[in-house]
Amino acid sequence: MAAGENDLNFKETMERIDSRLLGLDNLQILQVNLGNKCNQRCEHCHVQAGPDGQKVMSREVMLKIIDFLRRHEGLVLDITGGCPELNPDFKFFVDSVCGLASCLMVRTNLTVFFEAGLEWVPAWYAEHKVALVASLPCYTEENVDKQRGQGVFEKSIKALKMLNELGYGCDWNLELNLVYNPGGDFLPGSQDELGADYKSELDEKYGVRFNNLFTITNAPIGRFRQYLEANGQLEQYQQLLKERFNSEAAWNIMCRRLLSIDYRGVVYNCDFNQAIGLSIINGAGKEVSIEHLEDAISGGIEIITGEHCFCCTAGAGSSCTGSLLK
Ligand code: SF4
Ligand code: SF4
Repeated sequence: MAAGENDLNFKETMERIDSRLLGLDNLQILQVNLGNKCNQRCEHCHVQAGPDGQKVMSREVMLKIIDFLRRHEGLVLDITGGCPELNPDFKFFVDSVCGLASCLMVRTNLTVFFEAGLEWVPAWYAEHKVALVASLPCYTEENVDKQRGQGVFEKSIKALKMLNELGYGCDWNLELNLVYNPGGDFLPGSQDELGADYKSELDEKYGVRFNNLFTITNAPIGRFRQYLEANGQLEQYQQLLKERFNSEAAWNIMCRRLLSIDYRGVVYNCDFNQAIGLSIINGAGKEVSIEHLEDAISGGIEIITGEHCFCCTAGAGSSCTGSLLK
């Protein structure tokens, strides 16, 4: 970012490049958050999920999403949480949407496979050819356990081996992608280089294989924001994101092709906006719900921005599928 431009907020920064950057361009991905219940309580969780999470998507809301997908076949469906597998209607939902989406993707934390009553999940994923995205913020036990909790690394490796045995990560038939996010107030390094390191370390030490590594920049919201505040790093981290603004990444921000749905069926530009309650508002000043999404799209969807948005445009850019500049 050039000197003098540092005072602009995210919206102004984008408007300077092109005002089209502040609207949904073409809906390709529907991200559905099934709730904030999770068997883990990670230090950097932006949705502040945990075992006591009370937000749970009901079957009624799921049916509305299924209807939407029937009318818009061919979207990518990205299912997330919390821990999506802990929603009591998770199986019903995935069974219902199979065949409606061009790609069905679930974000799993891996350790949930060892929760009582969920042992069937990995084989069932393979049967349904669900693409998996799994968080593993480092290839060392020490760093993973520090961010995600004691014993998480060991369980994650066990789960990854189980998935490899089912055929995941070995070719593109059963896709297994891992997610890296920095352990502190810095940007991820090169996705390609880190991906190569992950591949050699995990293969050599544990015989684990996967397809791609997604590097994701931490948004300064939720538990990560609390962590930065507690360490007196919030301001300098926000400054870093701003200073590293990259206009090339700005053209590719995920909210130009993605919408995110919360457990109530309310629509957001992305999961980060969802986490801080910045929902899409219609002309009548009301939150847009899944059953009114078509009307909202035909009227044009504005991207609601905030200072956290600079995490998507810093450096090589960041999205739910990693770096924006490949
Ligand atoms: S980061 Fe993922 S695994 Fe960790 S608490 Fe949040 S939802 Fe659960
Ligand atoms: S935080 Fe969300 S709304 Fe903001 S730029 Fe990133 S994807 Fe778009």
